[in-house]
Amino acid sequence: MSRPFDTSELQRRVDAVREKIDRSAMKVGRQSKDILLCAACKAQDSAVVRASAEMGIDAFGENRMQEMALHLNEEAYLDKPCHFIGHLQTNKVKFVAGKAALIQSVGSVRLFDAISSAAVKLGITQDVLIEINLGREESKAGIAKEELFPLMDHAAALSGIRVRGLMVIPPVMADEKETRIYFQETHALMERLKTQGYENCLPDTLSMGMSDTFEWAIEEGATLVRVGRSIYGERN
Ligand SMILES: *Cc1c(COP(=O)(O)O)cnc(C)c1O
Repeated sequence: MSRPFDTSELQRRVDAVREKIDRSAMKVGRQSKDILLCAACKAQDSAVVRASAEMGIDAFGENRMQEMALHLNEEAYLDKPCHFIGHLQTNKVKFVAGKAALIQSVGSVRLFDAISSAAVKLGITQDVLIEINLGREESKAGIAKEELFPLMDHAAALSGIRVRGLMVIPPVMADEKETRIYFQETHALMERLKTQGYENCLPDTLSMGMSDTFEWAIEEGATLVRVGRSIYGERN
């Protein structure tokens, strides 16, 4: 059952996020067309997702395979691509590969291998981002920055996979200064990745920033921001 919702309120929120993207980009001499808005639509009804797909959103970000399947089935994204941004279990990879235009949250060799074999079976190349865990939070997915280049060496030998860049989720408790440092470190890592000339790597996407942090992220070089609450409201 879909709950009633206010389309004009949704439009106002999307417009407000867009304006903030424009302002942050301008502040650092960047163009807002170089920053993708990925709407994190977890726990949203297909009707709400579909309404937002007609607004200024570039892609949708899903955390759960089941919700992605439902939204796809109900054609909620219209013609917009869908990204997978949540924790992905290796046994669920076959349900996500080929459906998500980009899997943003690849943080282990095992996941790389599973995505590669699923993609080879489908005869596709799956675009992915590597999730970096700079906070070294045990509860959080992602790899430490020292592990990035060993992981890239491993990925270079795999078929069916193409690394498009990096994704980071700083610790929720970090303040502005700390959060910006996480973004700067990830940006620096991305710049190093670009100079390495790896096989299976076309690094053009730096995914950083959520509702409370996307403006800082853009100032620090993000090319994609993942915004949920500022578009859909607080989750219950
Ligand atoms: C939910 C989520 C977001 C969006 O967070 P908000 O605070 O709602 O903007 C971004 N990235 C990931 C990985 C998420 O799970």
